[in-house]
Amino acid sequence: MALKTLDIIARKLVERPAVLASERAAGAKVVGFQGYTLPEEVILALGLIPVRIGLGGSDRLVELGGRYISTKNCVYVRETVGLFADNTDPYIVNGDLFAFDATCLQAYRTAEVIQYYFNNGVIILGVPRNFYLPEAHTYFTAELSNFVGKLEAFSGVTLTPERLADAIKVYDDIRTEILAIYDYQAVLNPVISWEQVYDVIQAGFVLDRREYLDLLRALHAELRALQGEPVVGRHADEARLFISGSVIPPGDKKLITIIQEQGGRIVGDDLWTGLIPHLGVVIAEPTLEALAYAYLHRTPHGALPYLDLETDGRIKRLKSLIQHYQANGVVYHTLRYCDPYTFKAKETKDILEKFGVPLLELHTEYAGSDIEAIRTRIEAFIEMIKVKAELGEAA
Ligand code: SF4
Repeated sequence: MALKTLDIIARKLVERPAVLASERAAGAKVVGFQGYTLPEEVILALGLIPVRIGLGGSDRLVELGGRYISTKNCVYVRETVGLFADNTDPYIVNGDLFAFDATCLQAYRTAEVIQYYFNNGVIILGVPRNFYLPEAHTYFTAELSNFVGKLEAFSGVTLTPERLADAIKVYDDIRTEILAIYDYQAVLNPVISWEQVYDVIQAGFVLDRREYLDLLRALHAELRALQGEPVVGRHADEARLFISGSVIPPGDKKLITIIQEQGGRIVGDDLWTGLIPHLGVVIAEPTLEALAYAYLHRTPHGALPYLDLETDGRIKRLKSLIQHYQANGVVYHTLRYCDPYTFKAKETKDILEKFGVPLLELHTEYAGSDIEAIRTRIEAFIEMIKVKAELGEAA
């Protein structure tokens, strides 16, 4: 069944580059950004247009980017640099300033490279490594204050509590709607797939945030009218897969397509480009201190080191999402040279095995040369999960 709001979102995405260009012609400024711990709220609050940049899946752009940044960086980083070298992506072409955070140090390096080679205006937000310590909050608040000062100078606007409160409300509402919509893909006979919800989340990277919120509300209402309140449930023989690991940005459909072709049903993710940034953001008041605290206390990104597995918020969140979406297997995907997630693969696998959930680790990049090998491994994994599910042994 076709969902009307999905068609509208698809059309808005096609129209967005021209809309952005005309807004810029009328004096608006666009801030392209990339990062996990970067509170987008401050960009919107200053009257700037936030656009999350970055694509995946293009070997050509990875090769192009590799001429400017070491090929020992992940393909996502290299493709991002390739986007700047290529200079045809509408969100790069229409960017007036680019903001990065230092959650992943490879992404931080991207910022330096694009500033050096392509003369783009770049600002960087420092992120503490020991994010769980009180000192980290002090440091990150100071970093955020410095970052906002640069945005204020760029926009000519001062950040007031009223402006910040308005922006926080928009993002809080977006997060609420995304979480509600996400449940619908995990019900017994869904009218929306995980892939469609994932695409909706990524549409929010570039669409006008207030218009995007209206579209989410319309989609939520459409889903509620068709299916009532969502109740997550599973068929006995289903291979319900959860995707974890490195980023899967717009344009990278390789893994998703293979899983679906092999009869796996994706029902959840904890990806940087998926659900996880929208979870657990509790901003107590419209101040930079509160914003800094909320972003440091979300689910930690894999690039932030945390040594105690019993209290690691990333693992806790992963387990609770697997349970909530009733997944019976995890595909843990790492991009070549994505050290943060590659180093965490073994510990994640060990913990989930104790939890009764098998994990398949796949190491890949954007070239098509490993498609057959990945297909074979996913096929065998799905078969194993289905047999376990039929025998009633799955978690
Ligand atoms: S976390 Fe991994 S995939 Fe993401 S930017 Fe860093 S190295 Fe690349």
